[in-house]
Amino acid sequence: MQPVIGMPQMGNDLFRKYMKSKYVQSLARAGASVKWIEVDDPKAASRETVGCDGLLLPGGADVDPARYGQARSEACGKPNVLRDEAEIQMLAAALDAGKPVFAICRGIQVVNVFFGGTLFQDIREAQQVKHMDFFSRARSCHPIDIHGDSLLHRLLACERTEVNSMHHQAIDALGEGLRVTAESGDGFIEAVEAADYPRLLGVQWHPEHMSRSSARQQALFDAFVRCCGEAK
Ligand code: MN
Repeated sequence: MQPVIGMPQMGNDLFRKYMKSKYVQSLARAGASVKWIEVDDPKAASRETVGCDGLLLPGGADVDPARYGQARSEACGKPNVLRDEAEIQMLAAALDAGKPVFAICRGIQVVNVFFGGTLFQDIREAQQVKHMDFFSRARSCHPIDIHGDSLLHRLLACERTEVNSMHHQAIDALGEGLRVTAESGDGFIEAVEAADYPRLLGVQWHPEHMSRSSARQQALFDAFVRCCGEAK
């Protein structure tokens, strides 16, 4: 049986269907299928998560700043409070059950908030490279420096690589128990791991849009799915 990866429902309009298809294709190449979990009932969503072999937290809207004790600034997008709550509970359930978790873009931000960290609500004024470039999503936007002795370093097998970038927020204060494993040249956190949860990986870029042409980016999905198969 191929591993089944639980993912929170992202929506079914044309744009979201397209964005969802990139995760589905990347996971399919790695030998896994996706179960879309509805987010309208967070308790049910966390139960369904535990029934899957792993959890992938994907990109999406900005997390409600109330979650990290801040008022929403004008530059912060409108939150989806139901999805915030469901994803926090799904993440808690997955970590509790020892399920592998791969958190991408909004996902790494949800992970940081879950561990008690905060987010920059908008990095456009502070950034020195362009971190929001939808049209270059299948190519690279900026380099990242990868810290040695990390899961990410083992999987990407390099200390510096180019990634795409489709975010206007980033991790500010790091959540307790998390460790930074990659940064952009202008100092934003691009990947995190957790010593207590060796099956958790968060990345700020979108490997699902690069994985068709980049074996290095597809390797992240391959390793995640392999880990989900082993954890079964
Ligand atoms: Mn970036």
